[in-house]
Amino acid sequence: MSKIVNVEFKLRTYEYYKPFHITGSISESSTNIEVVIETDAGVKGYGEISPSFRVNGEKVEALYKLEEAVKESIIGMDVKEYRKIFEVLDRFFSTPSVKAGVQYAVLDAFSEEIETPVYYLLGGLKEEIETDRTVGMDTIENMVKEAKKIFSEGFNVIKIKVGENLRKDIEVVGEIAKETKGAKYIVDANMGYTPKQAIEFARVLYRRGIDISVFEQPVVASDIEGLKYIRFNSTYPVAADESARSKYDVYRLIKEEAVDFINIKLMKSGISDALAIIEMTKTANLQLMIGCMGESSLGINQSVNIALGTGAFVFHDLDSHLMLKENAFRGKFKQENAKIKIL
Ligand SMILES: [Mg+2]
Repeated sequence: MSKIVNVEFKLRTYEYYKPFHITGSISESSTNIEVVIETDAGVKGYGEISPSFRVNGEKVEALYKLEEAVKESIIGMDVKEYRKIFEVLDRFFSTPSVKAGVQYAVLDAFSEEIETPVYYLLGGLKEEIETDRTVGMDTIENMVKEAKKIFSEGFNVIKIKVGENLRKDIEVVGEIAKETKGAKYIVDANMGYTPKQAIEFARVLYRRGIDISVFEQPVVASDIEGLKYIRFNSTYPVAADESARSKYDVYRLIKEEAVDFINIKLMKSGISDALAIIEMTKTANLQLMIGCMGESSLGINQSVNIALGTGAFVFHDLDSHLMLKENAFRGKFKQENAKIKIL
């Protein structure tokens, strides 16, 4: 038997090494919920809930109170039948990070019972992935310094946060490109631009010969037409992040032909919607990246296993654990600079 006998939520706060500044938000710490699921075989599965109020309207204090509701929903169910449990947990659709952490803890418990890593349960498509690292907003000088450091440490994909000041943003991306030749760039405006500003940004940089691999969420989440306008009036591939939370969001983005890329984050979709989005985007010939919120190594472990198991992602933006102070590393993976594989 592999029946769930207990579910436990534990609040955990992690400080950032330095405040993380993106459009409209500066984070100094990340408060997450560690999820522990126990089965009648005495096995424990671990997951992490890392909510974003900015993206999903989720407050960790409210989510913490859902422990009882989750218990009532899944205690007595068998982790071997994890798809049945996923369906029950899909009812928590308005708290997708809870869905993510609990669904993953179920997979982790099953994986421990059969002594097979989660990425094999999901298909074992890849043995290794490479993550980017992110340069948060700061002065131009500090951003360039940070990018050079990241690049020199062996990270070949650099994610650059922009969106609060068009002129400065153009300059900073230009300067970083000059100093990190050979790197690839993901530029994320976190909804900071109007469609016209986004096109201006892309045109100026393109004329300067700078290649950007992904231009992420230039406009507000609800502006699907804006995304489409930018997609067809500029050269860089456009990605939806804040616009793409559930599988229904992605279905609409596909129908509207609004973007080239989807940024999947488990905390926006849970594991079940993430798997559905992967199949939908593959079918529609869209490309995928995987990102994170404020996960510790415990939460990044979830995305690493999904990424390796499904092999679905062109870019991996799984670096939040590198920005947070942790007492101990909790991932079941090994990381050497950008390269990540399962132990
Ligand atoms: Mg983003």
